[in-house]
Amino acid sequence: MYLLPPFRHKTSCMRCGLKYPKDEPNCTHCYGLSDTELSQYLDTRNDGAEDIRDLGKLFIYIAILLAITTFLVALS
Ligand SMILES: [Zn+2]
Repeated sequence: MYLLPPFRHKTSCMRCGLKYPKDEPNCTHCYGLSDTELSQYLDTRNDGAEDIRDLGKLFIYIAILLAITTFLVALS
């Protein structure tokens, strides 16, 4: 049983800037896409990254709220 996925060396794509496994002959993200499709794909990826960032901020707010609550309960 493996706890971690196998480590794969990655390289950056000159076209899209994303990383893909070094042992692949072509970029796994943008190979075969036209410039228009690539632009749409990158926009979609950026939207997803923004959602994850917002979720991260939410967790930070919850952590701060819990820390303040714990501090206030400990004082009383
Ligand atoms: Zn690429």
